[in-house]
Order: sequence, then structure tokens, then C-alpha cells
Amino acid sequence: MIPSTLSNDTIVALATASGHGAIAVIRLSGPDAIPLVDAVFKGKNLAHQPSHTLHFGTIREGDQILDEVVVSLFKGPASYTKEDVVEVSCHGSPFITEQLIKLFLKKGARLALPGEFTKRAFLNGQFDLAQAEAVADLIASDSALTHQIAMKQMRGGFSAEIKALRAQLIHFASMIELELDFSEEDVEFADRAGLRRLITTLQKLISDLLQSFEMGNVLKHGVATVIAGKPNAGKSTLLNALLNEEKAIVSDIPGTTRDVIEDEATLGGIRFRFIDTAGLRETLDTVEAIGVARTKEQLQKAAVVLYLFDVTSTSPAQLQEELQQLQLPGVPHLLLANKKDLATPQQLESFEHLENLVFLSAGQKEGLEELQQALLALVHANEALTGDRTIVTNLRHFQGLQKTDEALQEVLQGLDNGLTGDWLASDIRRSLYYLGEITGEITTDDLLDNIFTKFCIGK
Ligand code: GDP
Repeated sequence: MIPSTLSNDTIVALATASGHGAIAVIRLSGPDAIPLVDAVFKGKNLAHQPSHTLHFGTIREGDQILDEVVVSLFKGPASYTKEDVVEVSCHGSPFITEQLIKLFLKKGARLALPGEFTKRAFLNGQFDLAQAEAVADLIASDSALTHQIAMKQMRGGFSAEIKALRAQLIHFASMIELELDFSEEDVEFADRAGLRRLITTLQKLISDLLQSFEMGNVLKHGVATVIAGKPNAGKSTLLNALLNEEKAIVSDIPGTTRDVIEDEATLGGIRFRFIDTAGLRETLDTVEAIGVARTKEQLQKAAVVLYLFDVTSTSPAQLQEELQQLQLPGVPHLLLANKKDLATPQQLESFEHLENLVFLSAGQKEGLEELQQALLALVHANEALTGDRTIVTNLRHFQGLQKTDEALQEVLQGLDNGLTGDWLASDIRRSLYYLGEITGEITTDDLLDNIFTKFCIGK
């Protein structure tokens, strides 16, 4: 159900980022968008122009020319909001945009609330709620993968899955409700075994979507990659090489990297959060001891661990011992044999048989390409990334799916306990409600406010 909060006024906002730029775009949407701009635009009479056309002219306040602009005309419903939309491209000066917006406000427009253009697009049926939310994700995306996920969702991939689930459930709900109408005749229109099969299928789909959330989060916030290893193995040097900047302090004194340093880099379209840790060394130095404890804590949170060791001063047996101590074998990890520039051929050879091992010289920036390839291969080994499957990245969707799953579980229990149709129907309706909330078939003003106030103004 669509609430009647669709307002009938004309809104205006800066649609491009604030600050100086070559051009800025001011967007207006609503019934008066065209006459309102027409009143101050000197060029053509916009009301008489066809939709999807551009017009050059000036915006004037009285005799004063505020700017030379290009006006784009979108007549509803063939526009983003499905209302009449005018976009005024002016020179990208904060002074000019402020003057123009003030002028439009004077002429009767209202300043748009955060996300109000997208909210109107949703309320007018341009797209569903999950798609509207993907618009925000798309704008916020900063790597090829987050972009790809948001784009897929905006184009309706996720919504289509949810809607298909919902349609099947609605069918059963209506069959059961039909039974209720005939309750005195003791008939069963809804085949209980079929319903059970459907619910099991739905739960499997929902569980896949729920599981994808973890991966979705990783992709959104970056793959937590911990760089671990003994002091002086070259962790800070490696981090610097990966990030190409001098963020971590590099020194020759073991244990100088005392704190956890974190930075991000995008490799092969995936965002990584690299976490440098203090050296892993049992020590009596209290400051250093805190560092070691933190490393172990960071390892717990790591999606991937890069375990660095100095190939010139570590034997394969020592390495195995270090790995066992960290209980690393259970975590996806790469072994990085560093300082290969100083190593003898025998030293290198003694590690050659190990899997997931990359030889490198962080100091000489050699082997970094191989490291990147191995790291990407490790992440891509996760099928969630390679397959074409839908990935849930939005907490609201995740929670909606969880609640749907709980309600479905109750339908199953009801079937097990031979509950009557009215009880079953009520649990099915509850799961329909939660599914509907995801795509916005069911909305409340609070829900919409909650979503759209997180958008920027002008979006
Ligand atoms: P961390 O304690 O693990 O962070 O180690 P650092 O990054 O501070 O490096 C310790 C020392 O090893 C520094 O003097 C680095 O310049 C040196 N180092 C790091 N990587 C290499 C390398 O690949 N080759 C050589 N020759 N020296 C390196």
C-alpha cells in the first residue's frame, strides 16, 4: 500500500556536489517546475517545448542576468520522479547556485528534503524500495564490485527474487483464506504438502540471501586483510609498498610498529582494508605486549591473513611452528617469504614446496604483482564473488529476511502441529508483510523517513 504522503508542491535542490566545478545542476520536480523556470528563463517558452529537450538561455532576476544556463526538460511521467522535472545546468559556482535556488524559492518552489526526489520516484511507482535504496548505494560505491552489486539491485535483480517468493506465498495465503470462507464444509483448497515444499524452498533461498550478507558487508566495507609476522619481517615496508605511501613507521628496531595501522586499497576491483599489526613476539615489554594482544585480536576479525616472514632468518620448521601458534591454518591466508633479495638459493628452495606461498621483496618492491594475483585468487575462491548470485548488502533487507524466515518457521511448525487454516494464514500473512517491507509493497511513513533521510539533499 502506498501512503498518501505524496505532496503536490514543487521542490528544488542542487543535484551536483557542492563547491566549485565546471557546471552545477539544479533540479526541480513537481507540477510547477516548468512554469516556475519559465518565469525567470529568457530563451524559449519552455511550456511549449517537447519533453527530453535542451534549451540555452539566461536566468534573470528583474533586469539582472544571474547566469547563462542550459535547461533540460523532462515532462512527467517520462522523468526520474515521474513528475515534471527541469534541470538547470549553470556555471559551477556556489554563489551562482545559491542565487538561482533562492530565486526559485522566491517563485514558489520549496527546498527538497534529503532523498525527496528518489522518494517521489518511489511513491510514483518508478521503482520499488529496494531499488530506490540501491540508488544511494550506487552513488556511494567505490569499487568495481560494490558498483556491480548496487547496479544489479537498482535494475531490480534482488527485488525480482523477493517478489517471486512473495507471489508464491500470496497464492497459498489466498487458498487458505478461501478455505476459511468454506469452513463449515471442511474442505482443503491449499495442499498442505505443497505448502510445506514451498516453504522449504523459500527458506533455502532466504538462507542463501542471509548468508550473502556477510560477503556483502565485506565487499561494502573492504576485505579485512591482516598483515602479520614477527618484528622486522617487513610488515610496515610491505604495507607502504601496497599503499604507495609512508603511513606505517619503518625502522630497524624490532617492535617499533606498536599500534595497529589500517589503510585501504582497491586491487582488481575489490576493496581491501590492510591492517598492519605489531610484531608477534612474546615479550616482557608492556607496550609491546599490548601490541601482541591486539594482533591476536585483529587476526580474529581477519577475512584474509598475509603472514610475512624473513626468508633469510626463518627455517621451514620455525615457520610451521609460528603458524601453529597463531592457529592460522583455519583462516584463508598467504605465506609471504620476504627479503628474497637477501636470500641464498638454498634458503629460497627450502620453501618452494609450500602452498599459498609467494616470494617477495617488500623493500625492493619485487613480487608485489604476484602477491596481488594470489590475494585476488584467494578472495575469488569464495563462490559468492564469482557466481551471478544476488548479494544482500543492506542491513534493513537482511533484517527483513530474518523476520520472514522466523515467520515461515512458524508456518512450518503450525503445519507440524496440525494448526487450523486461520492460524496458518496469519503466520503466512506475517511473512508476506516482512517480504513486502523489503520491496516497499508495504510501507509506513516511519519506514520511508528512515530510509530517505539518509540520502543527500538533491538525490
Ligand atoms: P616490521 O617490523 O615487520 O614492520 O618490519 P619493517 O617493515 O619495519 O622492516 C624491518 C627492516 O627490514 C627495515 O629496515 C626494512 O627496510 C627491511 N626490509 C623490509 N623488507 C625488506 C626486503 O624485502 N629486503 C630487504 N633487504 N630489507 C627489507
